[in-house]
Amino acid sequence: MRKFTIIGGGQSGLMVAIGLVKAGHRVRVVQNRTGEEIASGKVLSSQCMFSNAVQHERDLGIDFWSDECPPVQGINFIVPNPDGSGTKLIDWTGKLDRHAYAVDQRVKMPRWLDEFVKLGGELVIADAGVEELESYAAEDDLVVVASGKGEVGRLFARDAEKSPYDKPQRALALTYVTGMTPRQPHSAVEFNLIPGVGEYFVFPSLTTTGPCEIMVLEGIPGGPMDCWAEVKSPEEHLEKSLWILKTFLPWEYERSKDCQLTDPNGILAGRFAPTVRHPVATLPSGRQVLGLGDAVCLNDPITGQGSNNASKAAAVYLKRILDHGDRPFDRDFMQGTFDAYWDYAQWVVRWTNMMLQPPPPFILEIMGTACAEPRLAHRMANGFDDPRDFFPWFADPGEASAYLSSLKAA
Ligand SMILES: Cc1cc2nc3c(=O)[nH]c(=O)nc-3n(C[C@H](O)[C@H](O)[C@H](O)COP(=O)(O)OP(=O)(O)OC[C@H]3O[C@@H](n4cnc5c(N)ncnc54)[C@H](O)[C@@H]3O)c2cc1C
Repeated sequence: MRKFTIIGGGQSGLMVAIGLVKAGHRVRVVQNRTGEEIASGKVLSSQCMFSNAVQHERDLGIDFWSDECPPVQGINFIVPNPDGSGTKLIDWTGKLDRHAYAVDQRVKMPRWLDEFVKLGGELVIADAGVEELESYAAEDDLVVVASGKGEVGRLFARDAEKSPYDKPQRALALTYVTGMTPRQPHSAVEFNLIPGVGEYFVFPSLTTTGPCEIMVLEGIPGGPMDCWAEVKSPEEHLEKSLWILKTFLPWEYERSKDCQLTDPNGILAGRFAPTVRHPVATLPSGRQVLGLGDAVCLNDPITGQGSNNASKAAAVYLKRILDHGDRPFDRDFMQGTFDAYWDYAQWVVRWTNMMLQPPPPFILEIMGTACAEPRLAHRMANGFDDPRDFFPWFADPGEASAYLSSLKAA
């Protein structure tokens, strides 16, 4: 039996912690908010998770919601006509081969914290800083920092080579609602790209009060969707969300105009710079700790990949730790573990960072072609489950053109 401390009881930290405790190890999770505080607090994310990521939860026996959570069955990509006619210029839908699910983290994390304790894990409710990390690192075989966007993650140095942006690229907002007209003929992430303004996507979810829809609003800084600073109340937040839809996306407004907030905490506004960090931090004592999840690989939510990444990173880390046997968890192990995850994550980071830029002509051509080419729409929809499939053809004009020609010829 080996001893582990995980800082942060979120998507990635709890998956690793539960996996380790199930394998018979001694595991402590240090988490700065209790399950009750999370459940009764503000929403944290929109957390739409595709099938491969959900499968890792199933493998650990902690997917408690797939029967209850309304499924996301496809991706519908829309670009409004720039002529202001209120019509759609691009509109395609691809069905997902396997459903995605968005379980509110206010529902999921409290249940997972309980499960961890039930399995014999030690839960410490505290805000861990360097001093605490030092004492855990002195006591345990390995300390993993999975603190999401928490301050303690700044112990890990920013990796400038892997981080093209040093400022937030979107003003973000979430609005959890009920009363939206369901999408027909099946559910989907409706992803609207408003050139020069931002993005709006919406999909079904399960929240603390039951089924709902989550609106995700991504405004280009300084533009009309960067509009949350003056919003003072949950009612104003909903009103502002609907104003955006009415102004830019009339079809979305039509579905949404009678919506209500799920609860006064069903809102969020904020911004952050997408950042990849070096995965090993050295404490003042010389001891080292390993970063996991958003703490070291933080993406803009535009492609909805953060929780998916967290789950996939957890699966890689867990396997590496368990396969390591009795050997020391030294710097080589830590760096090698992150590198094994980066083999996958680099493609997600690249795709996500591309989507933050104005789409170049070849991307618009791909998106336009998908309206008439169901195989392309299907491939792009399912790429959300494994974004490696977007490369090289989604990143290179020559590859894109060759791929589109091969589709036409087939
Ligand atoms: C607006 C928005 C929309 C999003 N939409 C999606 C989406 O549709 N699909 C998707 O896959 N992802 C989405 N994400 C991202 C996703 O929520 C995160 O990437 C994911 O939760 C990261 O998991 P994690 O384990 O790294 O961190 P988290 O789940 O954030 O967990 C970190 C935990 O550590 C705790 N903590 C922090 N500091 C300390 C400390 N010092 N001591 C103790 N505990 C600490 C925190 O309280 C938290 O509980 C979205 C994010 C945002 C902001």
